Amino acid sequence: MNLPIYMDNASTTRTDPRVIEAMLPYFTEIYGNSASRNHAFGWAAEKGVELAREQAASLIGAGPKEIVWTSGATESNNLAIKGAAQMYAKAPMGETGRGHIVTCIIEHKAVLDPCKRLEREGFDVTWLDPGADGIVTAEMVAGALREDTILVSIMWANNEIGTINDIPGIGAVCRERGVVFHTDATQWVGKMPTDVEKDNVDLLSWSGHKIYGPGGVGALYVRRRRPRVRLQAQIDGGGHERGMRSGTLNVPGIVGFGAACAICSEEMETERERLLALRLKLENELKSRMDVVEVNGHADRRLPHLTNISFGFVEGESLMMGIKDIACSSGSACTSASLEPSYVLKGLGLGDELAHSSLRLSLGRWSTEEEVDFAIDAIHKAVEHLRALSPLYDLHNEGVDITKIEWQTH
Ligand SMILES: *Cc1c(COP(=O)(O)O)cnc(C)c1O
Repeated sequence: MNLPIYMDNASTTRTDPRVIEAMLPYFTEIYGNSASRNHAFGWAAEKGVELAREQAASLIGAGPKEIVWTSGATESNNLAIKGAAQMYAKAPMGETGRGHIVTCIIEHKAVLDPCKRLEREGFDVTWLDPGADGIVTAEMVAGALREDTILVSIMWANNEIGTINDIPGIGAVCRERGVVFHTDATQWVGKMPTDVEKDNVDLLSWSGHKIYGPGGVGALYVRRRRPRVRLQAQIDGGGHERGMRSGTLNVPGIVGFGAACAICSEEMETERERLLALRLKLENELKSRMDVVEVNGHADRRLPHLTNISFGFVEGESLMMGIKDIACSSGSACTSASLEPSYVLKGLGLGDELAHSSLRLSLGRWSTEEEVDFAIDAIHKAVEHLRALSPLYDLHNEGVDITKIEWQTH
């Protein structure tokens, strides 16, 4: 077993060597511009792109003409959300009452920020609060819809806690009311079976680097029939991708994206069963060895490979320091300079304390049982060590309810 161990697959994944192999010729031999229609170099590149389009479409039950290539899920989300809002706006830019959008407070920033911008630009946004289990239901969405609702954007599975929303149900509600439905499926697609027809999805974002493909390439599914969905382009310049996303295509990246999708289609079933067993072992062992250990979010409606666990009476950053051999994420938004507690965990109702004492562990294609066993031991040891230094943990063991302590603040 090699150290450190990678348990941060929800952040990004290692590119599958088979994907790299598929990409390589497109750097060196098949280097044409896929938009060059008048020579063999262009045709060969285009052939690679179109195969990838079929592979991507096939993974989600779509048609190849419904796939728009982007630079990643962030761009896909921006194109879907801003593109639909601008296309279906009820009043022009600069006026209020341009239309109503429904989303949720624990979405990825790549959904929250475009929605916030639209709010500043005259759209009304309803920010659903999923409550303690982190699940957005079809009823919640139905209850939020208005006469002037033009777009609903709800993620398929949450990137911090792995909870799974009722996408087919939400999609059915939107379809019935004639509202465009977008889902950020970055953590779902490639890991779990997806069928945009059966699941009533109109727009769906995903990303190469979360499914063992290359970074910097993503896709947006845009429904073409029943109903046809139209988007306002966000990048102009040549009219590539049916006018929705201009720019010379990243041919090797797209070929790699397609290959990654094909491997996921092939191996998803066995992979998810294997990872589910490992994740359950991880959670169950940690919970049985220690007290005040909580898995965050709904108990069952969750991705097989991802868990988010709070360890009471330890501070997440110190815990991370104590488990240096395990690469994972903490419940603090350590991407920002200030150590803010995760807005997702706070959205579930966790206090700052518990949010800060959380770890996100996400397994992947190369995770082994040996690594999981190592992680269990290492986390157990680190938590015990930190708790041994914690006067609050002593009080807790003496039966004091520390939530009832009145601290002197001066
Ligand atoms: C990673 C992630 C994104 C951003 O994807 P990029 O391809 O890195 O832009 C968006 N949404 C979710 C849910 C993610 O997990």
